Amino acid sequence: MDLRTVPVSALSGVGAKRFEAIRSLGIENIYDLLFYFPFRYEDIEVKSLDDAIDQEKILLKGIVASDPVVARFGYKKNRLNVRIIVENESVMVTFFNQPWLKDKFVTGDEVAVYGKWNQNRRAITGMKVIGDEHAEGSIDSVYSVNKNIHQKTLISLIKSAYEEYSDQIETIIPEHILEKYHLMNDKEMVQGMHFPKNDEQNELARRTAKFREFFLFECGIQNMKSKDQINQVGLLENYDKKYIDDFIDSLPFDLTTAQARVTQEILDDMESSYHMNRLLQGDVGSGKTIVAVIAMLASVTSGYQAAIMAPTEILAQQHFNKIGKLLAPLKIRISILTGSQTKKEHDAIADNIKTGKTNVIVGTHALIQDSVEFKDLGLIVIDEQHRFGVNQRKSLREKGNNPDVLAMTATPIPRTLAITAYGDMDVSRIDELPAGRKKIETYWIRSQKIEQMYRFVTKELADSAQVYVVTPLISESEKIDLKNAELIYDKFSELFAPKYRIGLLHGQMPNDQKEDVMSQFSHQKIDVLVSTTVIEVGVDVPNASVMVIYDANRFGLSQLHQLRGRVGRGEKQSYCILIADPKNETALERMKILTSTNDGFVLAEEDLKMRGAGDVLGSRQSGLPDFKVGDPIADINILETAQIEAEAIFKDDAMAKSENKVLKSFLNDEFEQLNNFD
Ligand code: ADP
Ligand code: MG
Repeated sequence: MDLRTVPVSALSGVGAKRFEAIRSLGIENIYDLLFYFPFRYEDIEVKSLDDAIDQEKILLKGIVASDPVVARFGYKKNRLNVRIIVENESVMVTFFNQPWLKDKFVTGDEVAVYGKWNQNRRAITGMKVIGDEHAEGSIDSVYSVNKNIHQKTLISLIKSAYEEYSDQIETIIPEHILEKYHLMNDKEMVQGMHFPKNDEQNELARRTAKFREFFLFECGIQNMKSKDQINQVGLLENYDKKYIDDFIDSLPFDLTTAQARVTQEILDDMESSYHMNRLLQGDVGSGKTIVAVIAMLASVTSGYQAAIMAPTEILAQQHFNKIGKLLAPLKIRISILTGSQTKKEHDAIADNIKTGKTNVIVGTHALIQDSVEFKDLGLIVIDEQHRFGVNQRKSLREKGNNPDVLAMTATPIPRTLAITAYGDMDVSRIDELPAGRKKIETYWIRSQKIEQMYRFVTKELADSAQVYVVTPLISESEKIDLKNAELIYDKFSELFAPKYRIGLLHGQMPNDQKEDVMSQFSHQKIDVLVSTTVIEVGVDVPNASVMVIYDANRFGLSQLHQLRGRVGRGEKQSYCILIADPKNETALERMKILTSTNDGFVLAEEDLKMRGAGDVLGSRQSGLPDFKVGDPIADINILETAQIEAEAIFKDDAMAKSENKVLKSFLNDEFEQLNNFD
């Protein structure tokens, strides 16, 4: 029977009021109730009297010495007294107002009592008599409840649901998978989660519950993916192959093998009716932009518009300049849309986008405003996509008629996130850097040794290097931060001007001024650029080879890696100097990790462990689902196994096999309809 169809009110003792109360926990039916698992367990071990501490809650095991006596006292109150022999000592057990417990004490039988120990009186005020099977110890389940319902009430409801319906719990995970991983069936699991007999049983139940939760989640993802495949809603972009090949040939460099591979993956998706939802991941400097440009060009040759959204104005402007230059000989019209444009400018550009006068549109999140309409959007590229919230990404996807989506990120996606937050996306990886790049050498110094950094910069400048100097957001107040950047700017001017040209860049500057400074730096008219983190992502000036980061302990690992990635983009040997006085172990650890590896993947994994998923993604809307039993970081291995099994079931019509019948019908209801298989 499908227990999801049996309302909790079917249990005796659940009237309208209690039903309401239990619904406030999100429990509607017997299935919900049986799968409402404890959020933690209190593990109680049988105590020896020698170890018992006054007023502590303990579990004692003994032999009932005499029949219990129930005495009334006060108004409607009563007390049950019984003596038990524990380790050759007679202990008085007292229960208040639970006269029915007297049946549990039979002279000569073994019994276990949980309660509060009174050291002086050598007595225990009982809270609970533990049944036989628990005599070795007891694990107490603790549920999360609210003001509408007590622990005790919930537990007794779960108990009666289990007594009445446990034989009808159907196991959803197919048998062959349970066998393969030595997992419990659903009935055993429900028992082991709520009323474990011992640690081993509870352990296995938990492992099973985690697998089950992850597996069902992954089935949802597989279903979503197959929906994209089945509904032939994606655009067929019949791009001009020769045109694209010629364009690639005209580039000043050859694509790396990895770039060529991912480009083909993307073009294949665009050409098919499959709705592309692809994540392009490649470490900083691996050359993602050119891949995006080729894809956009392909979209344009098939008669559509293509848009690229960047998280900062500086980056949008850079894309506009660079892409514009690449496309100029091709007579493709490109425009830029940002928040700092005047209404007049904005309206004129928006009009060109709407009428299809521009083919390629570069912008910031200004692109997702309601006032922006596309004529025929075929492809959306989201650059540095981890900097956008889930909703912003969705809004852009909803522009136009189901355009293909290419999301790009330099922050390598830790395994956990790849499976969960990005599980519905296909992933392309650029796993090599363009030829000739040298490893960035990273040094960490304490601020008292700052002179060393000045000396180093002097030497590098003499060798015609360009230098970034980055200062963090130190306070909440942008004014103070600015002052900090200005002080450092003054210091560098004092030391190096007028021999070298020093520039200053920060978020408060008007847009045209920012553009001007960036353009001077990229044309080597500025030697040292003192900047706030506005240059953190995307900025590409290949000649820059030194990155100095002040107060580096204030940045997260991923952020430092991004900043460091502004250098090492050309053939010059590049350096990164971290100035930091770490105040604790983790901060110290971060400095050590950074100086020891350039591998963005390793750094992202470490970062995830240290800070949690939301932070690494730079947004609270990390898209990481809210798992109840499993922890996607700690239980990554179970998660990966669940993904593999879910994928296998969705492949090759395996779902149609009879062994997967129960799962199929369960999922069918869960997702309204399962796309592939009916
Ligand atoms: P990211 O992946 O960090 O966005 P970019 O796309 O900004 O990297 O590329 C970094 C730099 O490498 C740019 O200056 C770009 O022109 C250059 N580049 C990209 N592909 C190649 C290549 N195959 N060979 C040489 N240089 C390349
Ligand atoms: Mg980039």
